Amino acid sequence: MSKIKIAELFYSIQGEGRYMGVPSVFLRTFGCNFKCAGFGMPRGELSTEAEDLAQVVHLYNTYEELPLVSTGCDSYASWHPSFKELSPMLTSDAIADRIMEILPQTHWESEHLVITGGEPLLGWQRAYPDLLNHPSMVGLKEITFETNGTQKLTEEFKKYLTYGWLQTGYRTDREITFSVSAKLPASGEKWEEAICPEIVQEYEEVGTAYLKFVVATEQDIADAECAVGAYRAAGFKGHIYLMPVGGVESVYTLNAKNVALAAMKRGWRYSDRLQVPLFKNEWGT
Ligand code: SF4
Repeated sequence: MSKIKIAELFYSIQGEGRYMGVPSVFLRTFGCNFKCAGFGMPRGELSTEAEDLAQVVHLYNTYEELPLVSTGCDSYASWHPSFKELSPMLTSDAIADRIMEILPQTHWESEHLVITGGEPLLGWQRAYPDLLNHPSMVGLKEITFETNGTQKLTEEFKKYLTYGWLQTGYRTDREITFSVSAKLPASGEKWEEAICPEIVQEYEEVGTAYLKFVVATEQDIADAECAVGAYRAAGFKGHIYLMPVGGVESVYTLNAKNVALAAMKRGWRYSDRLQVPLFKNEWGT
């Protein structure tokens, strides 16, 4: 039976993108190929908050106890090796059982499943079919992969997403979405490693894909325009969202309106971060 290293598993409201406002089960896998230490920092500088917390990891026993950060990746504990002991390796049976415990009813109603990270398309693609075919998942209709858009789908997983439901006799009308949060230079990651148009274009072969750029400044928006040009040139047809930077409310409210105006001007969509005003972006929300 397949196993997945799980950073968090919780029930909340999707705060971002296409399914904003939809009650959702969040399955946060462990591991990421990036660090995104540039978020919230002056351009060219990198946050040390995650590294500083890694020095005192012994003070924390659960995700709920971990402090929030205002710079760098706000889900640092889902990839930083120092926090790996907080993330158990669970079988698909154990994950499915836990999901049934946190759903408000004993079956799927209109909740959607968000598979996030970290980067959920790293090594775990091989494990998802077992989980998604589990008898407890029969009523699940909509699934979103929240990805940074750098991981190619394996041929096996692509085949599963295209024909897998048919082979197992499960629902054939499951809707797959790829919410691609491509990382601009403000994240601190290198353009050539973060902007991968051919990979993202391929997601559209098996589901609906959209791009979501986290921005704070005019330079970020100019970078987003440049990236969109590259994705469009590769044949990407999906929607474009702009989302304000800010894992903490003070930073988020500072630029939300400007980001909304910038999206309107370009005919792009605006994505909120409902988890910040609603739940203060705490772990488990
Ligand atoms: S890609 Fe996402 S999870 Fe990975 S470091 Fe960047 S913000 Fe964090």
